[in-house]
Amino acid sequence: MADQCVFCMIAGGKIPSAKVYEDSQFFAFLDINPVNKGHTLLITKRHAATLFELNQQELQNMGILIQSIAKGVYRATKPEGIKIEQRNGRAAGQVVDHVHFHIVPRYNGDSEHKTTKYSSPQEAEQLARAIANNLH
Ligand code: 5GP
Ligand code: ZN
Repeated sequence: MADQCVFCMIAGGKIPSAKVYEDSQFFAFLDINPVNKGHTLLITKRHAATLFELNQQELQNMGILIQSIAKGVYRATKPEGIKIEQRNGRAAGQVVDHVHFHIVPRYNGDSEHKTTKYSSPQEAEQLARAIANNLH
């Protein structure tokens, strides 16, 4: 765990989050500033700054999980599309230096430059549970 890394703290339970998925290697939770409700982040528990630091086994497992979380988000939010995004470096828009995939429900005419808010922590928790229940 890297000191002061917000995603290490989330994976370690030191910062609360609306959890969607957890296993020994990975953790997924709702983004605090979602483009749309259900916007989920998938991270490694191990601190790695970018995609380039992942080993083959992590990459393979993460690929399977991306599809399963995308299914969960799709079934729970019924969007018109799903966008997967992964950023490396400031020039690519990476703000948190702990590798993560965005899984984002999208709607015709929406803007990825605008974010929304959950009306309450309970709303976020309920949606995280709905996604978790629809992963497979
Ligand atoms: P990046 O631009 O690095 O790809 O995206 C980082 C994402 O992490 C942003 O969408 C931001 O809203 C999200 N984020 C940053 N801090 C927190 C936090 O403390 N909790 C949660 N749930 N999401 C966070
Ligand atoms: Zn970290």
